[in-house]
Amino acid sequence: ITQLVWLRNDLRLGDHPAIVSAHQQGNLALLVCLTPEQWHEHNESSAKCALREQLIETLQQQAHALNIPCHVLALQRFSDCPEAIKALCQQHGYQQVWWQNELPVHEAQRDHKVAETLTAHNIECQQLAPDLIVSGPVLNQQGQPFKVFTPFYKRWLATLSATVSPAYDLPQQQSADISLPEPFHHTTDSTSYREDLWPADYQVIREKLWQFCHRKEQHYDELRDFPAKPYTSTLSPYLALGALGPRECVEAIIHSCGEGERDWHTSVWLKELAWRDFYKQLMGFFPDLSKSLPFKPETQRVQWNHNPAAFKAWCEGNTGFPIVDAAMRQLNQTGWMHNRLRMIAASFLTKLLLIDWRQGEKYFMETLIDGEFAANNGGWQWSASTGCDAAPYFRVFNPTRQSERFDPDGQFIKKFVPELKGVDSKKIHDPSSALRQQTGYCAPVVDYKKARADAIAAFENLKQ
Ligand code: FAD
Repeated sequence: ITQLVWLRNDLRLGDHPAIVSAHQQGNLALLVCLTPEQWHEHNESSAKCALREQLIETLQQQAHALNIPCHVLALQRFSDCPEAIKALCQQHGYQQVWWQNELPVHEAQRDHKVAETLTAHNIECQQLAPDLIVSGPVLNQQGQPFKVFTPFYKRWLATLSATVSPAYDLPQQQSADISLPEPFHHTTDSTSYREDLWPADYQVIREKLWQFCHRKEQHYDELRDFPAKPYTSTLSPYLALGALGPRECVEAIIHSCGEGERDWHTSVWLKELAWRDFYKQLMGFFPDLSKSLPFKPETQRVQWNHNPAAFKAWCEGNTGFPIVDAAMRQLNQTGWMHNRLRMIAASFLTKLLLIDWRQGEKYFMETLIDGEFAANNGGWQWSASTGCDAAPYFRVFNPTRQSERFDPDGQFIKKFVPELKGVDSKKIHDPSSALRQQTGYCAPVVDYKKARADAIAAFENLKQ
């Protein structure tokens, strides 16, 4: 009997638990559901949607070369999935459907409804654990979810050590007498996203992972915070769509640590990947996070500023704070932003402009090619001090100090804020008027000291 595997944000053939388990039971067929209206409602960027389409096209070609039929259903919303999948199963005689669960509320509801409909029609559903490095829930001794990252990480690492397994192989070639669905062609044009930076080529993606692990992973701890010469992997768009499997990443880390005679348990890059698991698991435990609510309920009472002009300046990279503007322009021009800059830009919006974190969260999601609901929500709530294990409210990043520390010779700023090209490296960080007059660069939208004091006061008021 042919087993149908439904791929969602796990768009790959290799290192796929559902594909491996399903294949043990019979021939394979694959399914992808396009739900553009739903993705649009979830604020997914056109860059991410374009990369997704291209990955689907490539994945289908790969599957068809192995005689594995890959159906691509053009739907609109998650609510279209139950009937469409049921009809597909009935048409092709599929009696068993496999997938890896997803944890945010809409996705979980979708999966529940699909399972309900299929089961009612005698089609079995095999729902596997989410697509994480440690997929089972990581719980404390009381069986409760961790609310702080460090103890979560300790337990996570211990579980990983005990269960670590190599990446799963690609499925094998199937017999040739299977009829294959019509090929899917992406509809996006070449300007939809930076294909030069994130090609939809599974071979290239894998090479990118292994090269990063061989060349950069050992220097990650020391150099990851400097945006001018990124020593991070830039694999996030692929991890967000699941073009890269979690076991593949761990395997590459263990391999390169082994070559350098380093203990893989101490890999700082691995620890960063644990944040991905942490935030994704939180979505499952705390459904409020999927409903635009803060993790700390008392922070619902923060009096955020209504300031469309300042928000627009932030979005466009015209705040008058060079490092913030360079960061936002990097985002607008490439669909990606360096992690250190995400923290600086988010702290600037939520603390110095005191603008609601949900506005920033939405803008990032609409613009990022790696927009991922759990990581984005976690990052924003961390920055705004409203979240789980968040930065304390009195921790307000000083953009000038951050800039001096992490872009000391202004190389990154000059790349994205060309107005400041001629400015001396020592003076480039300071949003002072002298700088502005020299170059025609915009005036600062806030006074740092006053804005910082106002932000701290707004959070202190919550205690009363
Ligand atoms: P690397 O440093 O190479 O890390 C490897 C992978 O680990 C990343 O690709 C990502 O999958 C994961 N990862 C790393 N840091 C984090 C983290 N703090 N939280 C969760 N996962 C992490 N990451 C996203 O993938 N999508 C988002 O929409 C997103 N929004 C963010 C918003 C804010 C305000 C902040 C502060 C962070 C956000 N992050 C998000 C986390 C982080 O900035 C990016 O994952 C990282 O910059 C991606 O670059 P990289 O692939 O080179 O990361």
